[in-house]
Amino acid sequence: MDHLLQHLIETDKNLTRIKQVEQLFAQQVNEWPLLQSNTEALKSIERRYIAFDGFGFEVQHNPARERSTCADTRKKAIEKRPCFLCINNLPTQQKGILLLDRYLLLANPYPIFENHLTISDIEHTPQNIGKRLGDMLQITRQLESYTVFYNGPACGASAPDHFHFQACPFGAMHIDNELITLGQSFVKETFKNEKIVISKIDNYLRTVFVFESDDSKEIIAQAEKLIETLPFHAESGEPMFNLMCNFQKDKYRLLLFPRIAQRPQCFYKTGSEQLVVSVASVELGGIIVTPRHVDFEKISKTDLIKIFEEVTLKYT
Ligand SMILES: [Zn+2]
Repeated sequence: MDHLLQHLIETDKNLTRIKQVEQLFAQQVNEWPLLQSNTEALKSIERRYIAFDGFGFEVQHNPARERSTCADTRKKAIEKRPCFLCINNLPTQQKGILLLDRYLLLANPYPIFENHLTISDIEHTPQNIGKRLGDMLQITRQLESYTVFYNGPACGASAPDHFHFQACPFGAMHIDNELITLGQSFVKETFKNEKIVISKIDNYLRTVFVFESDDSKEIIAQAEKLIETLPFHAESGEPMFNLMCNFQKDKYRLLLFPRIAQRPQCFYKTGSEQLVVSVASVELGGIIVTPRHVDFEKISKTDLIKIFEEVTLKYT
């Protein structure tokens, strides 16, 4: 507990949660050189856009993300390294805000977006959503202008042994706005009652289920029901999927992306056939992170189609 207290920032209790998060970032960028330099680097990062019909992807050359894109998440490698989310291992400068008495909201020192957050359990406990969908929705409600996301242990989480969510400002991922503008050829309503609408997005490279409701209990019940229908992945202790959630105009919108593979085949190739790309929520959200410049230049529309084909579960 002492260790936790050392890593809590003093925030003004009268401020909204969002204002407290802004305070945290202002303090952390000032006091923590690693975050400062990586936040600064983000401003001049190279980006390009690959357009599809009605949607698209930003490719981002972000060398600081190499440790995450290439993280060895096999059990043996994980057991050998000190866990970077455990409170005892946090750098002394790293401070956070306690949420729901169970999670520490931190500035991610290897950001993909401005104000990229990591929200980790204060205990070292495996990445497994289990009964935490309710926590995810409560956190989303507190972070109203953010999108909160979850990477399954074999779906992009670089710390599969320590439970965490992440979050970024709403709109930072293309999907946030695309889901509002995508036409009827993409969105198919699959279920509706007086409390909830569930849709499935097609022709979008990846499969997405969208749960929309102002009733968090109904979202949880329906999402858990759908998760039960997905193939169980023994190593993860749950089916393979990624989740994203935001709260806009008094409504929750939860997205579920069923998966079949952690990484596309091009990740494991060598020489000119290799593309160092891993798929997690951020990529599913429309931002393709390439730590190597060669991949940033090379990756094409055809590659993206293949990559998503290989990691997405086709759900019919
Ligand atoms: Zn840990």
